[in-house]
Amino acid sequence: MVSRVIPVDPFDLVIFGATGDLARRKILPGLFRRFCSGQMPEDARIIGAARSDMDTEGFRRMVAEATREFGGGRHCEDGTLEQFLERIDYEAVDAMGEGGWEALKTHLRPGTVRAFYFSVGPALFGALAERLRHFGLADDESRVVVEKPFGHDLDSAKALNATLRQHFHEDQIYRIDHYLGKETVQNLMAVRFGNMLFEPLWNAQYVDHIQITVAETVDVGGRGGYYDKSGAMRDMVQNHLMQLLCLIAMEPPARFEPDSVRDEKLKVIRALDPVDYHHIVRGQYDADDDQPGYRAHVENPRSTTESFVAMKCHISNWRWAGTPFYLRTGKKLRARASEIAVVFKDAPHSIFGPEAGTHRNVLSIRLQPNEGMTLGVTIKEPGPGGMRLVDVPLDMSFAEALGPEAEEVPDAYERLIMDVIRGNQTLFMRGDEVEAAWAWTDPIIAGWQSRGEVPKPYDPGSAGPDDALMLMHRDGRRWRDIRV
Ligand code: NAP
Repeated sequence: MVSRVIPVDPFDLVIFGATGDLARRKILPGLFRRFCSGQMPEDARIIGAARSDMDTEGFRRMVAEATREFGGGRHCEDGTLEQFLERIDYEAVDAMGEGGWEALKTHLRPGTVRAFYFSVGPALFGALAERLRHFGLADDESRVVVEKPFGHDLDSAKALNATLRQHFHEDQIYRIDHYLGKETVQNLMAVRFGNMLFEPLWNAQYVDHIQITVAETVDVGGRGGYYDKSGAMRDMVQNHLMQLLCLIAMEPPARFEPDSVRDEKLKVIRALDPVDYHHIVRGQYDADDDQPGYRAHVENPRSTTESFVAMKCHISNWRWAGTPFYLRTGKKLRARASEIAVVFKDAPHSIFGPEAGTHRNVLSIRLQPNEGMTLGVTIKEPGPGGMRLVDVPLDMSFAEALGPEAEEVPDAYERLIMDVIRGNQTLFMRGDEVEAAWAWTDPIIAGWQSRGEVPKPYDPGSAGPDDALMLMHRDGRRWRDIRV
């Protein structure tokens, strides 16, 4: 298979927070890979900006180390890194100060696509937006990219939107949710809307329930300070899981265009019922023999922040009335595994008799590891002995199906940055979507607080608290295994 890499237009990309963790681990190595693939044009420029007093040579050394350490361009030819580094500059700029802006401006070329990546804490978004306009670096064609978390609740998200909109139009603002940049997530749309096979069955009449799992093995590690103020609900559910839910549940958009897709996602969020608190389980990982528990990773030894959430949600519309959506996410779980599973209903009548058992088709969309899809189908067990049925997977692992090309599938950040340069907002969250997601999440969190609810402890390496298993068992269903 021949991959078609379509170069983007020349651009000037300023990365604020260029010395930070996200820039070093994702953004810069990702840009290097795009350079290796030929997607980044010769005359593209990347300008790093942060407060650190560093010259361009020092910054280039940092970028070179970051690309080596974080897997930049495995298949790049010799000398490519040096060519990439020639396109990189650095300016020391304090988002809150007045110095450095004029120097930064000298790097920007008229008539070239101009994008500003805010890879800094949200407290700096307003100051950056204001100064970009004040010093004349940004105009009505420029794009700004903002990172999560987009607010802490509905009020703060509204305030952030209002601040950004004082300086930029909505069609200039790119709110990143990197889950939307994953290959499989886009494939979900291709599978749903590019095939005749699935869409007729994609509703409450044929789908028993849907499970969305984002399981991590890592603990909160060095992010304890941030995480303890956030928790799994704000850090994962309000954004990543909600976005996945929207894509799986939305009506077919008229076109694969930014506002068509985002209008449909917004309708899903608005159709979500408030969640009954009996249908939510919060958990917090315990210590085990040789590893500290959650509370040892954060400052507050009595923290009641959740590192795990499982919940049952309902979407009140014609397509989904009566079909539950079960969501779960957590840290320190058995395996790193993210999956959307569409579990279809039983056949209405079994002609094979009760001994054949019940069999259900499950479409499993794996986000990690091994991005791909599996459709479980029921067939006859081979050999003599009557009509015994067995479930087998029709497996489409991208790495196997697409061969070496699949290894070169761009990482989510790479794809999203290239979409910014193309000016395509389809895979970015619109301001009203983010606000609607907070409007649904806020009452859940407020309920926990008013009831003084304490999360259930769970063992590291488990599938979460037992109550999460009960959430499904009560409905006569079970979670799919969390495994690699
Ligand atoms: P970080 O490691 O703390 O880096 C912050 C960056 O901002 C540094 O380059 C810092 O450099 C710069 N900075 C701080 N204050 C500044 C100021 N006043 N003016 C200019 N630059 C300033 O943070 P990060 O992990 O990269 O995260 C950046 C953003 O991405 C945050 O909003 C975070 O929530 C989000 N995010 C991060 C990840 C991740 O995996 N790291 C994932 C998702 C979202 P100087 O100190 O030199 O100024």
